[in-house]
Amino acid sequence: MWEKEKKEVLEALQRMCEKDLVVGTSGNVSLRIPSAGDGTLAAISPSGRFYDTMTAEDIAIVDFDGKLIEGPYSPSIEMPLHLGIYKTRKKVNAVIHTHSIYGSVLAVAGMEIPCILDDQITHLGGEILVTEYGLSGSPELVRNALAALGPRNAVLLANHGVLSVGRTIREALVNCEMLEKAARIYIGARSLGNVNLVPAEMVEVMKAYYIAVNGD
Ligand SMILES: [Zn+2]
Repeated sequence: MWEKEKKEVLEALQRMCEKDLVVGTSGNVSLRIPSAGDGTLAAISPSGRFYDTMTAEDIAIVDFDGKLIEGPYSPSIEMPLHLGIYKTRKKVNAVIHTHSIYGSVLAVAGMEIPCILDDQITHLGGEILVTEYGLSGSPELVRNALAALGPRNAVLLANHGVLSVGRTIREALVNCEMLEKAARIYIGARSLGNVNLVPAEMVEVMKAYYIAVNGD
């Protein structure tokens, strides 16, 4: 069952690799399954499998308690993080976690990305914060990520990587790329020695637009 959703997750995993957002078996992708009625199922990548040989049948289906409903392998170790976001952010239907390089540089440096780009504000929701450290798969990681993500669509996971969300899987993937672009531009501008922020009053206008589109 849920062939369409499994295929969408597999395709996002493949895009994530093609775009060099991860190395090896790292990163994970999930999709809320609203067809289950009240949206209490999710399709999620399996744990520790290589993406080039993965098939749609390998994608796990889990309920919101984390129980495996269908699939030959254990779901991703970061499943609690994905489910925690779905439970908190009702308009979010897709979650993508990657280890993209420039976002990870800032996650290691412990530096948030201030509001430097218009599309960062309209699509990601404004400044991108860094979480407190939490071990992969731990309740602390879920708690810290939800706190730093807030109403926004992207967050930097301390000493680990990044995470983006979206209303669709395609949107979540674009948000991953947009986050990586913002991180790269921020690092570049800082290396030139000058960072001009978007004017505060314009940040407020664009944040209002973002919340109108993405707010719960
Ligand atoms: Zn990771």
